[in-house]
Amino acid sequence: MNQKITLTSIAKALANDEFIFYYQPIVSMLTGKICGAESLIRWRQPDGTIIPPDEFIPIAEETGFITEITRCNLPKVVKDINTLNQINDSIFVSFNVSAKDFADTDFLEALFQATTVKLENLANLCIEITETAFLPSDEHTQKVLHDIDAQGLSIILNDFSAGYTSFNTLTHLPLKAIKVAMDVTQRAAKSKNDFRLFRHLVSMAHQLQLNIIAEGVEDEETHILMAALGCTHVQGFYYDRPMPLADFIELLQKGPSWLEYPFGLEYLAQYDHIDFRRDVIRAALMISTHQDNDIRERSLMRLPELEPKKCLFGQWLENTRPLNLENKTYQQISDEHIEFHHLARTLLDMALEGENKDKITKAIVAFSDKSKQMMDLIQDLEIERLKESFF
Ligand code: C2E
Repeated sequence: MNQKITLTSIAKALANDEFIFYYQPIVSMLTGKICGAESLIRWRQPDGTIIPPDEFIPIAEETGFITEITRCNLPKVVKDINTLNQINDSIFVSFNVSAKDFADTDFLEALFQATTVKLENLANLCIEITETAFLPSDEHTQKVLHDIDAQGLSIILNDFSAGYTSFNTLTHLPLKAIKVAMDVTQRAAKSKNDFRLFRHLVSMAHQLQLNIIAEGVEDEETHILMAALGCTHVQGFYYDRPMPLADFIELLQKGPSWLEYPFGLEYLAQYDHIDFRRDVIRAALMISTHQDNDIRERSLMRLPELEPKKCLFGQWLENTRPLNLENKTYQQISDEHIEFHHLARTLLDMALEGENKDKITKAIVAFSDKSKQMMDLIQDLEIERLKESFF
């Protein structure tokens, strides 16, 4: 088959409208349900033979013809997203773009033309970029990505693995999610060091408030592990293979579920709680013991979000509410969390008002006691859930 594929045959296929998209489900770890899909191009030849992308995308990339393929096919994906959104308006679809597309001066215009007005919910189109193919530090790339973000579209960093990603990429690009490379996901279940590394990748993404999609989940063991590690989304043959749009719609309507209690998100929430406690105490002490305004201001700047619903722990509470509607321990944690924030504010106000050492110490102890109470409750909830899940 390979020998027959040339630039001329690819160009002819494009002219004959022979490229179609398959969709592979992306599953939310919070609901266990399909919440999106990756669009994956296929070449459907006139005799019905389906040619996978690995057999023609590299040639299209080498010759630069990929930009034509992207521009001509993007409207098809946009149309498919609108169709899917009539069934479920939150379903998102990721679309792969190549580094060559970014160098193409007409790319942004084509992207905006295909989406503005035509796509009802812009955020439901995720532009998937592969970091190894880009120079994220390149000014042009950064500008294109910021323009895409400003337009309201989403961006996913594909093939994420510790070896390639620089801190700059994660902190300076307007990303919605990172997709962990398939081999990294698969190795996490099989090797101790890869498992540890994976756990820290998830934690890093979590700190930056990025969703994390584990790609290449092929079995139940890896699925359970991804829930235990705190991935927000999963994709792989375990859920389903890429399929034509009609089949994907049928699957979506059937509404399959792979619900696994997301223990990993609960562990991350425990860390968030501990970080919050530490950051508030540190800030209060720095403010109480330093008169220098710059130091005091920087201490306040480093504080976590003080609104109970907006801090990372509060977001976990909100996100897992549907899973815990009837649960009394969860309700208690929610109430204590509000009280915990109230004590944090009291402590900080005292520090800012220059209260004496004894009063500050008492406020730290009260704040800390509330934290201990909460940690007990969070672990009680975990044990309840573990019993339900495993026995
Ligand atoms: P990718 O973006 O990393 O896409 C994921 C590939 O992994 C897909 O292969 C998918 O079928 C496969 N996959 C998903 N889950 C599993 C799993 O659990 N196990 C295994 N072994 N494989 C899994 P596919 O469809 O052959 O696509 C290959 C590559 O072709 C894509 O890699 C992407 O780089 C490129 N590609 C696909 N569609 C497009 C497109 O529209 N434009 C561009 N520029 N590239 C595309």
